[in-house]
Amino acid sequence: MKVETRLVQIGVGRDKTTGAISYPVYQSTAYRHPALGESTGYDYTRTANPTRDVLEQAIASLEGGDDGFACASGMAAIQTVMGIFSQGDHLVVSLDLYGGTYRLFEQVLTRFGLSFDYVDLRDPVLVREAIRRETKAILVETPTNPLMQVTDLAAMAEIAWEFDLLLIVDNTFLSPYYQRPLELGADIVIHSATKYLGGHNDVIAGLIVTKGGELSERMRFLHNSIGAVLGPQDCWLLIRGMKTLALRMERHQQNAYNVARFLKNHPAVTEVFYTGLPEHEGHQVQSRQASGFGGMVSFRIRQPVMVAAFLQELQLISFAESLGGVESLCTYPATQTHADIPVEVREKVGVCDRLLRLSIGIEHTDDLIADLQQALDKALQTGGGRG
Ligand SMILES: *Cc1c(COP(=O)(O)O)cnc(C)c1O
Repeated sequence: MKVETRLVQIGVGRDKTTGAISYPVYQSTAYRHPALGESTGYDYTRTANPTRDVLEQAIASLEGGDDGFACASGMAAIQTVMGIFSQGDHLVVSLDLYGGTYRLFEQVLTRFGLSFDYVDLRDPVLVREAIRRETKAILVETPTNPLMQVTDLAAMAEIAWEFDLLLIVDNTFLSPYYQRPLELGADIVIHSATKYLGGHNDVIAGLIVTKGGELSERMRFLHNSIGAVLGPQDCWLLIRGMKTLALRMERHQQNAYNVARFLKNHPAVTEVFYTGLPEHEGHQVQSRQASGFGGMVSFRIRQPVMVAAFLQELQLISFAESLGGVESLCTYPATQTHADIPVEVREKVGVCDRLLRLSIGIEHTDDLIADLQQALDKALQTGGGRG
């Protein structure tokens, strides 16, 4: 069955006792055993829960993996995956990384003896140079947040295979609707399901999908042992959101393309980063490895002084730090998502104080463009013209 159909049908026909179309929330921590040595398949909800099972099987199927794991947040998913590694292990990681992941790695996991090299994964030569004897994995975000840099996943899979490394991909930005890294050779996919999969800015959740029996076994052990699992109510909310993923992604993308084109032509904007623009440096690679470009658009405003005015003037688009929901949001990475990255690291990557990130929602394109137009026009006045 096609992805669209599988999304809509998540959980349908699964509740044999009632036939409920919307799979119920099994709000129970424990399960009564039929007899000594017997189980219904459920013992304790940290280990397994019927509502969570529906979600986990759905994401495994959508990503083309063997097993799925629902976690309390995207960060909980990443922490759970990191449980694979041991003291002394080294990972090669995207340079332009989600700020929270960078913080977990540098401020928490380095204390446990893991080490990380942040590399521009667009260049396979740099990736090979960064690999050492202790290297155990490559962790990729593509496209990256917020600069929309595209990494060639098949090229990374080849290097991972050659050096016997795990390839881990954070697929939050495109969702399985547009990109399925496991089909390109990745071993593990991670999602902040808080974003597109949930899609309504109302649930914090993370998902992991593994490929291969042994890896899936290890992840099942870690998921249960670490215990950062997603509660049944939030599993239900996520299932509910995922049913419309296909429709939402198409609209996000259409709007994002229109907004990117508009921004390119506004005098208050100096650069636009959207992988769907043919002139974007990652457009070719992304066209090859994904079926779409998603709804994230970043841009540089002409002068730092214009940032405050622009954010102040936005009426429809909310100044808020998330992405992937039906409502359009605007983020200022320098002080929000990337605040915990040292300023010199941030600037080196290109997350400067003129960079703004838009999560384009599913409102009408004309309304989004009108809002951006008026806010940019006013910002231009604040900035003293074209300066
Ligand atoms: C938001 C995000 C995370 C963290 O997820 P939470 O659900 O906020 O914990 C990880 N990776 C990326 C790419 C994200 O956008």
